[in-house]
Amino acid sequence: MIAEKGGEQVLLVDDNPTNLQVLFKTLEGSGYRLLAARDGEAAIKIARKAKPSLILLDVMMPGIDGFQVCEALKSDPDTENIAVIFLSALTDSQSKVHGLAVGGVDYIAKPFQSDEVLARVKTHIKIHRLERALAARNIALEDENLSILNAVEEGIVGLDQEGRVSSINRQALVLIEQSEADVLGKTVEELQLFNNDESVSANIKLLINNSEPLSRAFVELSTAQGASISVSLTGSPRQGGSVLVWRDIRDWLKSQQALQTAREEIDEQRQHMAHIERLSTGGEMAAGIAHEVNQPLTAVVNYARVCQRMIATDGQPNTEKVSEVLDKIAVQAERASAVIQRMRSYVKKPTGGKERLSMNTMLAEVVALAEVDSRTHGIDIEFVRADALADFQADEVQIQQVALNLLRNAIEASAAVDVNRTVQIASFGNADTVGFVVKDWGAGLDPDVETQLFSPFVSSKEGGMGIGLSVSQSIVQAHGGDLQYSPNPEGGAIFRCEFPLYQS
Ligand code: ADP
Repeated sequence: MIAEKGGEQVLLVDDNPTNLQVLFKTLEGSGYRLLAARDGEAAIKIARKAKPSLILLDVMMPGIDGFQVCEALKSDPDTENIAVIFLSALTDSQSKVHGLAVGGVDYIAKPFQSDEVLARVKTHIKIHRLERALAARNIALEDENLSILNAVEEGIVGLDQEGRVSSINRQALVLIEQSEADVLGKTVEELQLFNNDESVSANIKLLINNSEPLSRAFVELSTAQGASISVSLTGSPRQGGSVLVWRDIRDWLKSQQALQTAREEIDEQRQHMAHIERLSTGGEMAAGIAHEVNQPLTAVVNYARVCQRMIATDGQPNTEKVSEVLDKIAVQAERASAVIQRMRSYVKKPTGGKERLSMNTMLAEVVALAEVDSRTHGIDIEFVRADALADFQADEVQIQQVALNLLRNAIEASAAVDVNRTVQIASFGNADTVGFVVKDWGAGLDPDVETQLFSPFVSSKEGGMGIGLSVSQSIVQAHGGDLQYSPNPEGGAIFRCEFPLYQS
């Protein structure tokens, strides 16, 4: 008995032909394709073959009854989604509950009203259709999710509430050299994914038990073959469990290492260049230093002669007086030694290490070094110290080099004019920075030089190497600081050098 082509299929099952006839009449013309069966076996057979959307199923039938038919259909994946509405004269609530328990969606009491049957069939067909659409949409979404998960570079692992792997994408499997079947249902510890690194295990436990996110920039992931791969690892809680994401960082690490090596090479070159510049400054200052050392040495010679005379003429020299003169010899010798010592430690190869420095103490040393030049050129150095400056971290010799370069340039520029015979070096600082300013009232910057200031080999001086300012700027920048020029509104130049206090 089949009625109407197209539309949803509805199977009518009743052992009573009259009842079947009535059902048929009820649903005829409502747009469904109707199938019929007169006993349970036939109903199962037709259902398996035709897969109707809905079955109107009589309960009391000879052979297997409606409940058994429903059970059989629900236990078969091919027919489990068919909606079953029971029709029965058994209206006790136990039968209804049984009907729903074996998988029925509705229960209509006999004798039934045609309108009611039609209305319920329509509702359940609609629900059935929506459920199918939803299931298809779910499958499409799952496929889409999977294709997205498989397309990303990261390994993505879903964990259930117990921390067992519930899903894993292709990239994750490729990296650990395992198959999906090997890992599903196992915990991270069972899989020994992170070599049972205790801190990672602790992070993962907190993620699973307390929903605490985890983020590790660098961990070692173990492969099935026993290799170890550097990955970054994050873990986030999600509905019904958590998700781990790892990213292979081996290439990134390699490029970081290459970058680090390049940085070290540049730093070495910079230090080398700075050393050459100091040697050159040392050379330029040699004549002045020789003069500076010569004065105390001459005094030493004179005092020594005085001692000799005291011994020769008295025969019995006054030891107190001799001792006084010897003290003077020692003072002068120390003066000469200090000049040489200062220059030696300035020219020596730097250790490259940063240390805690007092800006004022460091500048005092530089002023002492520059005094030779200032005397030669007849220029005074005015040193203005700011109070209560915080110490900063820097390579002492290199920062001295910057200050000395600026001071010597200022002295030379001032010597070229006859207005103000003073240069000023002043320290400054606040909670975030310390620094110093070198100010002169000299000739000011040559316009050709100003446009290329801080570029190497730019000099307006005869025999000038033109590397002082470029080396100074690279030193300051390597310390995270800043070196700036501005014209002195009163004529001359101002150089401002500043260092952040956070630099370590
Ligand atoms: P050098 O002293 O060997 O020329 P520098 O790099 O120290 O090399 O200086 C580059 C140039 O910048 C100098 O030749 C000079 O023209 C200019 N300069 C630097 N400091 C001053 C200053 N205080 N006043 C005027 N010109 C300056």
